[in-house]
Amino acid sequence: MQIEKDAVVSIDYTLKDEDGRVIDSSEGGEPLAYLHGGGNIIPGLEKELEGKAAGDELQVAIPAEEGYGQRNEQLVQEVAREQFGQIDELVPGMQFQVQSEAGPLVVTVTDVGEEKVVIDGNHPLAGIDLHFGVTVREVREATDEEKEHGHAHGPDSHQE
Ligand SMILES: [Zn+2]
Repeated sequence: MQIEKDAVVSIDYTLKDEDGRVIDSSEGGEPLAYLHGGGNIIPGLEKELEGKAAGDELQVAIPAEEGYGQRNEQLVQEVAREQFGQIDELVPGMQFQVQSEAGPLVVTVTDVGEEKVVIDGNHPLAGIDLHFGVTVREVREATDEEKEHGHAHGPDSHQE
């Protein structure tokens, strides 16, 4: 069958940035299974996969707006180092969940000074144009349960 709304699609993928650096890949693991049309993967990739079938391979470039969005510099903040007082070794790259006005937000530490720490609430892939190499492995109809839950279930199924 072709990929359409309410298909469960398994893909192998490699995600690279503009410079060809691999950001993420399913290689060496299980293919990624998702429910098509459920907003479970980034919109740009979902659009490119529409109408494809098992065995199809595609190379797609997805601009940041259709990926993880543009960066919002207001989400970059300087906070007092003492707010992380309980953490001995604070280094750039560490991630924390914080409460924001819009609910829980994952922030990444980007700079650590003696008194100030810079945290960034943008998705690490925000503002990055994404280059996907995708192979469609399997396309099947979603079960009623999957449609109800709005996501795909794994091969051995009764999760969540
Ligand atoms: Zn479920």
